[in-house]
Amino acid sequence: MKNTNTEPSRIRDILAKSLDMQVLNLTEVSALLALDDEELWAEVFDTACRVKEKVYGKRIVLFAPLYLSNECTNDCLYCGFRTGNKDARRKTLSVNEAVEEASLLSKRGYKRLLLVTSEHTKLAGLDYIVQVVNEIYEKTDIRILHANTAPMSVEDFRRLKESGIGVYQCFQETYHMPTYKFMHPKGAKADYAWRLGVMDRAIEAGFEDVGMGVLLGLYDWRWEVGALIAHCRRLISKYGFGPHTLSVPRLQPAQGSKVNNIQNKVSDEDLKKIVAIYRLALPYVGIVVSTREQAHLRDELLLLGASQISAGSKTSPWGYMKDGDTEQFEIGDTRSLEDVIGKIVGLGLVPSLCTACYREGRSGENFRHLAEKEAIKNFCQENAILTLKEYMEDCASGEVKEKLKKILDGEIAKSTNGLAEKLKSIEEGKRDVHI
Ligand code: SAM
Ligand code: SF4
Repeated sequence: MKNTNTEPSRIRDILAKSLDMQVLNLTEVSALLALDDEELWAEVFDTACRVKEKVYGKRIVLFAPLYLSNECTNDCLYCGFRTGNKDARRKTLSVNEAVEEASLLSKRGYKRLLLVTSEHTKLAGLDYIVQVVNEIYEKTDIRILHANTAPMSVEDFRRLKESGIGVYQCFQETYHMPTYKFMHPKGAKADYAWRLGVMDRAIEAGFEDVGMGVLLGLYDWRWEVGALIAHCRRLISKYGFGPHTLSVPRLQPAQGSKVNNIQNKVSDEDLKKIVAIYRLALPYVGIVVSTREQAHLRDELLLLGASQISAGSKTSPWGYMKDGDTEQFEIGDTRSLEDVIGKIVGLGLVPSLCTACYREGRSGENFRHLAEKEAIKNFCQENAILTLKEYMEDCASGEVKEKLKKILDGEIAKSTNGLAEKLKSIEEGKRDVHI
């Protein structure tokens, strides 16, 4: 029997709904998941790119992860940090070492870092994380810290939020309970329900910006993508806003991993479809692509709806200072921040080191309304240009500096809203100019 759910007219109605900034329902999501007509997929990709530009304009936000510890009491079968990996060289950064790594990244031009920790309440517990956050804000020019840590209680989340964390991020890994139980045999993470409720607890504790995802490759990706979108829709109906970002982590080889023969492998083509479906299902959500992926694929994903990427990343504690301790997984894109900035400009997009929304209260429901009205991109565009000017003055060199100068000269030539004056003030030494 013919699947009328994926008829071209039906798919085009769904695409029109996304272009109108409406969240898709699960029947519409399932139509996209079932689509196998390559010509229609070309339309889907094109629409995903248009939706991204309607919300955020051409800007692509850049950040780096800062790994604090690889000492873990869990045994997630796919992770290099798992307790069963007896070959791992373990390290937890001291607070001073975390500040040193953050300073180094700040000197390279980063303004936003994602703190990542394994789960170890004694060696890398909440007191330690809060101390790291306080010291990095006090002693470096990093402007916003996000965190990907193990789930916490509402009370602990409150302390984490009060320390100044912008986005709290945690991936469900898999919504499929039997797979979850198999992949997470030991430690606190073995508790499926504790992980499933993590976003409710974070939001109840005051986090208006949360980041979600599934680890692609553990179970059938179509099922997982549907389940994640269902989870997001539930948060939206309960709190008035859903996740601030969705990530698309895809399973990578890792030292000591027990998941080497990946039955549910997600191909590059599938990953492009996943990015496009997330973009269309939740038009205003940031989509984050990490350096797990190869450079050429990341560049393509930027034209299919992704809006944030990490660059120049290391996935081991002390990895920026020197290679040595066990990394979480293998990196696919080893380009530096400067190389990635040059590439983004080459794609006709605008790299951004902006951190303004979190600090100006444009978060949660407020952010969602601004994005739905297509008003966020006005902030994004100007702030991207202002942060690029800082980057050009402080860090850029050679060809990339020339490319940035050309963009900025173009912006000054068409400036009508005081942007030229703001750029001049940055040239004269003023920093953190934003709207
Ligand atoms: N330890 C905390 C946890 O598990 O939630 C937070 C940080 S963990 C280091 C960050 C994420 O890395 C995990 O949620 C998982 O999705 C991802 N990850 C772990 N092993 C991976 C691998 N081999 N390939 C790709 N991503 C992986
Ligand atoms: Fe530990 Fe997180 Fe790795 Fe699991 S995914 S072993 S909890 S660091």
